[in-house]
Amino acid sequence: MAAIPPAVPPQPGGPGPRQPVHAAIGLGANLGDAQGRIRDALALIDALPATRLVAASRLWRSAPVEANGPDFHNAVAIVETRLDAFALLDALRLIEAGAGRERPYRNAPRTLDLDLLLYGDGRIDAPPRLVVPHPRMAERAFVLRPLLEVAPDATIPGIGPAADRVGALAGQRAEPTS
Ligand code: AMP
Repeated sequence: MAAIPPAVPPQPGGPGPRQPVHAAIGLGANLGDAQGRIRDALALIDALPATRLVAASRLWRSAPVEANGPDFHNAVAIVETRLDAFALLDALRLIEAGAGRERPYRNAPRTLDLDLLLYGDGRIDAPPRLVVPHPRMAERAFVLRPLLEVAPDATIPGIGPAADRVGALAGQRAEPTS
């Protein structure tokens, strides 16, 4: 008789019934009607199953970082969701695809980029598919400044309070436009 495999410890953010979790999502676009796409994406995020939009930052405008093309428009959304982190990421990918997102090469200009920044206080290490907290979020003013608008007490697991990191990024251009 085949041995019964050992139970796999549950992955934080992995499948299974769960209590609602607050997650932070970063939105960015720098092609076409970038602001319109971000507004549309916020509505689509709010319409995801088992998910509701709790707060959305103003729209911000930022210089491209490790990317090409015109200035980016950015926002950060806080959602309450019962989706596990992988299902939430898949849903964000579908919204990106619906906005005509293509990936012709790394860091190409983009019609819509959605990043899962934070998932509760969870840490998820499943590269390349999903790493949470988003690995570069603490280095980006266009993420931290809108995040602090909607979650002033946000803590980045493994790093610390987002508010403690933003001062070091003062040299990065990012300003609110709405
Ligand atoms: P990008 O081209 O910057 O949108 O990167 C997308 C790729 O990063 C996808 O293949 C995702 O599966 C992967 N990825 C890993 N961690 C994350 C995360 N926290 N948020 C969004 N995408 C992620």
